[in-house]
Amino acid sequence: MSHPYVTIDLDTIEHNARAVVELCRAHGMAVTGVTKGTAGHPEVARAMIRGGVTSIGESQLENVRRLTQAGVGVPCLLLRLPSLSEVDDVVRTVEVSLNSELPVLERLSRAARRQHRVHDVLVMVDLGDLREGLWSHEVVPFISKALSLPGIRIVGLGTNLACFGGVVPSVENMTRLVEIATAVERSCDLKLEWISGVNSSGLNLLAAGSMPTRINHARIGEAILLGRETTHRQPWPGTALDAFVLHADILELKQKPSVPVGTRSEDAFGHLTPFANHGLMTRALVNIGREEVSVEGLTPRDSRLKILGASSSYLVVDMTAAAECYHVGDELTFTLNYAALLSAMTSEYVRKRPLRNAPPLIATTTET
Ligand SMILES: *Cc1c(COP(=O)(O)O)cnc(C)c1O
Repeated sequence: MSHPYVTIDLDTIEHNARAVVELCRAHGMAVTGVTKGTAGHPEVARAMIRGGVTSIGESQLENVRRLTQAGVGVPCLLLRLPSLSEVDDVVRTVEVSLNSELPVLERLSRAARRQHRVHDVLVMVDLGDLREGLWSHEVVPFISKALSLPGIRIVGLGTNLACFGGVVPSVENMTRLVEIATAVERSCDLKLEWISGVNSSGLNLLAAGSMPTRINHARIGEAILLGRETTHRQPWPGTALDAFVLHADILELKQKPSVPVGTRSEDAFGHLTPFANHGLMTRALVNIGREEVSVEGLTPRDSRLKILGASSSYLVVDMTAAAECYHVGDELTFTLNYAALLSAMTSEYVRKRPLRNAPPLIATTTET
């Protein structure tokens, strides 16, 4: 039985990276390419590097090790705050980590000394998104204390927006970050090399020319991988949306009613879903389900097809509008949103097929 697989068009990723890097560079910003949506896929990292990113951002040390073992030679940033129990690994594995807790910095400092290394730290500031970071007034006292720790070097400030609270990067909050950086430099007699302002949600502000000039670093994942900025999930100019395509097989293709027959209770996932009666339908069972992928994030590339739902093992697709074009065993292809990409790329049931110089996919496509 063939497994579902994701094709990864590395040329598209390189192209997307280049578009983002050129925009950022024009505004004085360096770009860290974020590969966590691909479970640290080395070919994806290499494509990003060909496109001009100067470092790689990851949330998992395991992924960083995979990249390093594959010979990806650029510095790596650990994006997820380190846990107290992994400080030795952090110092051994990445050049830079994002931090917001003094007890963790103290342990990182000891780990760095044990390993005779210097570990670089970006101090995270929470500007309102309510995910990681120090609240503004805590930053100066935090950094004053951190500066007494040997083995670690405070290289800059960072903030993360549009992730938990959905707060959009703005002139106000970016200016606030710069003000905090200036206050730190004055109070602590320190030069902050990096002010890491944005992820893919900051591209609009940047393109509008409204980013304060001191913001000199961006950490970009989604815009490079999936070609979208993330405040309105609009396609980002100059990037392509289909670097990743999920392929799965039709296992069953039959005419059935559109409404279940019999007394109904909950489905396999505890939901009681309403069904509208559209009469007889051509329905396909496809060999991908919740076991493998976050199915809500899939879109059939053939716009005539409609996903009706999924169980653990099957995706159920309404094929009625294109019934005569498909047969059992045919492959369906889907684009993925970030959640679907993340789940597919971290699933051991989904094969990954990186492609270079790929011809356009010959799909059982949208036109008849
Ligand atoms: C995931 C992550 C990013 C990348 O965000 P995108 O929206 O994919 O560009 C940047 N910074 C941090 C801290 C992250 O965790």
